[in-house]
Amino acid sequence: MKHLQMVDLKSQYEKIKDDVQSAMQEVIETTAFINGPQVSAFAHELQEYLHAPHVIPCANGTDALQIAMMALGLQPGDEVITPSFTYIATVEVVGLLHLKPVFCEVDARTFTMDVTQIEKLITPKTRAIVPVHLYGQSADMESIMAIAEKHHLYVIEDNAQAIGGTYTFKDGTKKANGTMGHIGTTSFFPSKNLGCYGDGGALYTNDDALAEKIKMIANHGQKVKYIHEIVGCNSRLDTLQAAVLRVKLKHLDEYCDARRSVADRYDQAFANHPEIQTPYRAPYSHHVYHQYTLILNHANRDAVQEQLKEKGIPSMIYYPIPAHKQKMFASFGLGDLQLPVTDELTSKVISLPIHTEMSQEDQEYIIHHFLEIVKGLS
Ligand SMILES: *Cc1c(COP(=O)(O)O)cnc(C)c1O
Repeated sequence: MKHLQMVDLKSQYEKIKDDVQSAMQEVIETTAFINGPQVSAFAHELQEYLHAPHVIPCANGTDALQIAMMALGLQPGDEVITPSFTYIATVEVVGLLHLKPVFCEVDARTFTMDVTQIEKLITPKTRAIVPVHLYGQSADMESIMAIAEKHHLYVIEDNAQAIGGTYTFKDGTKKANGTMGHIGTTSFFPSKNLGCYGDGGALYTNDDALAEKIKMIANHGQKVKYIHEIVGCNSRLDTLQAAVLRVKLKHLDEYCDARRSVADRYDQAFANHPEIQTPYRAPYSHHVYHQYTLILNHANRDAVQEQLKEKGIPSMIYYPIPAHKQKMFASFGLGDLQLPVTDELTSKVISLPIHTEMSQEDQEYIIHHFLEIVKGLS
């Protein structure tokens, strides 16, 4: 029996070991642990990769979201439209800043914000829309930007799961995920598509003034040392992490391609299966498969997971409880908010192992057993 993992960071490391070790060694030798030259070098390289005028590194993806909302001047009571079907960080910072989360339904096929549902949620207090490029696929940014423009709202793209992916506009223009809204945020958590060896994050923006403000907020509200103009926080990317990220950024496209190949093989194996809905590829999105998440039509998901586990195959539910049903928001006056698509997805999605180092043999093993198990349980 095999013992597989959702993500294999060790095998990936083995391939880039020499480069990573010398990059980290250089930081240690120079003891430039905080704001060493690797941090700005990485920011610059990511800027070029994304074609984004400004990249500001920070400590993690959750901080990036918080700093984005602070930089846009959102005030307590302001409303932020965001999906409930996301990792909690997207919404948690809304609560932390005493803003009001207004949960938008997601599209049953793309798992991202249902753009037909946004406008009815807009009130005079709405200030921002926060789409999430879930599982590696961009939300429908052209529609979201049009709505935002019409209603004078800010857009923050939560790009923690989709770095390396792109969005294609109707006129054929392509843009990197995270660079279309007013601010894009990302996470370099180890298992993300561009992951470091600890915590890390970044914000991107096209706006010079916003970039200045973001830099200040991430650095105790100062531009000049010991002159604190606004209340900020302390959110830095470690130099060691920046050194690792510089090595890994060079491989990001190759990593995304490897994930896509795994997704292609799953898609082929599960195509037209009566019990399995493979992830939909929106025509506007270059999907980079942070997760390979499918829908089980009828099979008992707990039993599927249990039987996969017996074969040494891990699986995950992203996410078992949607944000609007978390106790965290019990006092937020969400009332009896109904999000049927979100609820249904929460009960039916399952993510299979996907990573940059998956061998065809391991994948065939997963596919074989998954199909057998689903057949036995349907
Ligand atoms: C990982 C993730 C975050 C938070 O990133 P951290 O670096 O763990 O703080 C935010 N949003 C989404 C959608 C994520 O997947």
